[in-house]
Amino acid sequence: MENIEQSCTFCSIVAKDIPSEVVYQDEQVVAIKDANPQAPVHVLLIPREHNLESLNDASKLDLSLMGHLLYTAAKVANQLDIAESGYRVVINTGDASGQSVAHLHVHVLGGRHLAWPPG
Ligand code: AMP
Ligand code: ZN
Repeated sequence: MENIEQSCTFCSIVAKDIPSEVVYQDEQVVAIKDANPQAPVHVLLIPREHNLESLNDASKLDLSLMGHLLYTAAKVANQLDIAESGYRVVINTGDASGQSVAHLHVHVLGGRHLAWPPG
């Protein structure tokens, strides 16, 4: 686990070893601006702990964290003024989804019309 954390981009962001633009943080999660935004508002909610590499690792022990992530997504959307216009909450999971960082995270996207179905 230690080696994984040392080489994990999001653990480095949480530890402030890699700079990021933090828009919200609390005891469980850090919310940052995505470095390669796909919409005018594109935030990543990153759990401080590297317990879960993806949604596939979530168990009943993680229900509180999972609920907190969704609650925080809505809170950040409100803070960034996209709650009324609408936004999308995404958890890429595994290769076919394009997940590129193996530290569970939630995307919050908004500020423009988002096509459906996604690509
Ligand atoms: P995913 O493809 O779901 O794993 O999402 C990973 C996201 O992390 C991508 O949208 C990247 O643009 C973003 N990302 C990677 N490195 C950084 C970084 N150092 N700071 C901010 N966002 C990052
Ligand atoms: Zn990590």
